[in-house]
Amino acid sequence: MRHHRIAAIGGDGIGQEVIPAGLDVLRALQERCGDFALEVEEFPWGSDFYRETGRMMPEDGLETLKRFDAIYFGAVGDPHLPDDLTLWGLRLNICQNFDQYANIRPTRVLPGLQSPLRGVGPGDIDWVIVRENSEGEYAGHGGRAHRGQDIEVATETSIFTRVGVERIMRTAFRIAASRPRKLLTVVTKSNAQRHGMVFWDEVAAQVAKDFPEVRMEKELVDAMAARFVRKPGSIDTVVATNLHADILSDLAGALTGSLGIAPTANLDPERRFPSMFEPIHGSAFDITGKGVANPVATFWTACMMLDHLGEAAASARLMRGIEAATAGGVLTPDLGGSASTKDVTEAVIAAIRGDN
Ligand code: ATP
Ligand code: MG
Repeated sequence: MRHHRIAAIGGDGIGQEVIPAGLDVLRALQERCGDFALEVEEFPWGSDFYRETGRMMPEDGLETLKRFDAIYFGAVGDPHLPDDLTLWGLRLNICQNFDQYANIRPTRVLPGLQSPLRGVGPGDIDWVIVRENSEGEYAGHGGRAHRGQDIEVATETSIFTRVGVERIMRTAFRIAASRPRKLLTVVTKSNAQRHGMVFWDEVAAQVAKDFPEVRMEKELVDAMAARFVRKPGSIDTVVATNLHADILSDLAGALTGSLGIAPTANLDPERRFPSMFEPIHGSAFDITGKGVANPVATFWTACMMLDHLGEAAASARLMRGIEAATAGGVLTPDLGGSASTKDVTEAVIAAIRGDN
């Protein structure tokens, strides 16, 4: 029996609804598969925890998390607390300290769903977006001078290091190589940003030599946004900087139906630290407590977690369960249905139990 230790953090808002649903599904999956055991520990960290203790997580929280193989995370963010405090106090604290430099976002139209793009359904969009998650435009390097004066100036400097660019490229090439089409699109803006982006292109060309089986192509980010909409079938794996991939992946999410289905993984591919698996959506306080949060993104991210833990068969079984539910029309209101979180969870569990 293989054992995996999972730290579950529901966090804020609907995070506290979708993570318990995800744990129910994982328990059913573990029973059905019978060849691995998940040891789950739940942590009540987040904005409520902050109100009680003055911290989003305990001082030794990171030390605690280091004992786990993976982190299953809901959402963080509270309408009454600044994002700086909530995000940096918990989610980004984990991402940065555990050097989760690769943010992976699979994007697919699930059976039973329709893209808002006319004529685009299941099978037409099947992408993986690889986002650099540790430096680039979000490095926080810059400053302000001459505040309030006519000569006021603000700078925001992107930081690209050889280590940083090379490791995200290698991750992207490895993912592209593992997929049937073996196609990687390297997105930059090297016609206008002539230092960092040219450097990206150079490193991509160097890393490409180690992956002769992968067809690499280059695309400018603006052209890529248009191609997402106009030729979605021409895309497979995409790698882009922190900022570019941030924008592209929101577009990708919108093109596949709802934020409620989009999963992500924040990986430390070297496995020095636990990686973190979460839905892309936030805490969504507008629907919190109503029992209608779509748990599909949280289930799908559990597939990614299982893959990372080496449980590919269980991951595939869970994905079949999710697809059975969506194909069967068990959809929450964000997807035009009237099912509750619980209905979707039960449909997925029933599909897992009936799966051969
Ligand atoms: P954040 O500030 O963390 O981004 P947010 O509260 O602004 O969070 P999101 O959670 O990102 O909002 O989502 C935006 C809207 O999309 C929500 O207000 C909600 O109506 C809808 N939404 C997001 N996730 C889900 C979900 N899982 N199920 C149903 N609707 C969702
Ligand atoms: Mg938001």
